[in-house]
Amino acid sequence: MAVLYERVALIGLGLIAGSMSLAMRRAGLAGEVVGYARSAETREIARDIGLCDRVCDSAADAVKDADLVVLCVPVGAMDAVAREIAPMLKPGAVVSDVGSVKRTVIDAVAPHIPDGVHFIPAHPLAGTEHSGPRSGFAELFDDRFCILVPPEGSDRTEVDRLAALWRGMGSQVDEMEADHHDLVLAVTSHTPHLIAYTMVGVADDLRRVTDSEVIKYSAAGFRDFTRIAASDPVMWRDVFLNNKEATLEILGRFTEELFALQRAIRQGDGDHLHEYFTHTRAIRRGIIEAGQDTDAPDFGRKKAKSD
Ligand code: NAP
Repeated sequence: MAVLYERVALIGLGLIAGSMSLAMRRAGLAGEVVGYARSAETREIARDIGLCDRVCDSAADAVKDADLVVLCVPVGAMDAVAREIAPMLKPGAVVSDVGSVKRTVIDAVAPHIPDGVHFIPAHPLAGTEHSGPRSGFAELFDDRFCILVPPEGSDRTEVDRLAALWRGMGSQVDEMEADHHDLVLAVTSHTPHLIAYTMVGVADDLRRVTDSEVIKYSAAGFRDFTRIAASDPVMWRDVFLNNKEATLEILGRFTEELFALQRAIRQGDGDHLHEYFTHTRAIRRGIIEAGQDTDAPDFGRKKAKSD
């Protein structure tokens, strides 16, 4: 595949930046990938494992002469990072990000972007519960969606070039408006994470079930919750602080549905439960048909001894 950007700078060197670097290398999409992380320890690890072509000791050094700069830090750190790099951005460069929330990131970053520099926010809908410079892998974005959120009046050639980069890294690309993105993600990702965090917290609180029993007899449902609830605490703190309204809106609806199911159980209303579960099963089938998961039993896990 052709080189799309001569120099790409990744600011923040964790799961997403690491995966981007490896995916760009796999497809030959960038002439050079340079990186910067705030801690010396992360920079050292990134150098050791060859995470990108060159690791710089300052964000300013990394973005100097870069054609594409991607902010890969937690949502709450975008403002400070954008402020720091702004004076060093090359005219005509593109700044993008991978933050899980879009409206507050746009509000935080856009004011720092100098005239003549393009800002095209993005969000790859791909991740794992692992974080840090060792957690990235080239296949992370394969067949997953990346949502671009170009502000009105964005340069079409640059939006298309960024879309081509994400396609080259394996993604399918869609465009969305920022508030709509935040609402969709509140439904598909943010609220489910909050529910997982809560369920794992509840199990932990239940002293009638000892900790060892929770772990020993963890069935598929609870195990999946624990995997999600192991996600990075800083990233998820920032997601909820920054997608406040949409998450609270969906959480309100969730609570109403939960009460309705609670009532059905109390009243022995099997028809209600059956109808509800039939509908949710169809949604799962839709996800599989859209190629966003496989229908391997138990998410393709080998049967654990304790099951
Ligand atoms: P990560 O693995 O935890 O890496 C975060 C990176 O940001 C690290 O290099 C860290 O530096 C740096 N960083 C943290 N706080 C910072 C601060 N206050 N100032 C400057 N740098 C800071 O995170 P990630 O999973 O790659 O997530 C990065 C972004 O992608 C987030 O905005 C997240 O919302 C978004 N995202 C994540 C996922 C996912 O599932 N993980 C999916 C899609 C999008 P040090 O190592 O030096 O501390």
